[in-house]
Amino acid sequence: MGFLDQLKDTITDAGAKAQTKAKEVADTVSLKNQIHTEEKKQMELFVRLGKAYFEAHKDDENDAMVADITTIKASIEAIKNLNDQLSALKGTRVCANCGEEVDKDAVFCPKCGAKSEGSSTEN
Ligand SMILES: [Zn+2]
Repeated sequence: MGFLDQLKDTITDAGAKAQTKAKEVADTVSLKNQIHTEEKKQMELFVRLGKAYFEAHKDDENDAMVADITTIKASIEAIKNLNDQLSALKGTRVCANCGEEVDKDAVFCPKCGAKSEGSSTEN
């Protein structure tokens, strides 16, 4: 085999290797994306399952998951407390009927029309 033929073979071989490498990279990205998609789907289902479990077992003091249930209840209470502080800071309150943020002095909710629980006009 002549020098030029050898050179041609070397170049062709390098091109084929680069192509194989590019395909490997593309396949790796594709597989990682598919894994990520499945993991995301799984996490959403775990969250939904966890919420359903919480709702079904939250009042059972002997439940196997009572420690997690207690922690979640405390977290829900903490978020409620933080939201109350946020409302106080902004001069708003949360409508007990629809959850809309309304002015703390508003007697009626502008969204659903519910009367404020602590309204002074309520006797
Ligand atoms: Zn409302």
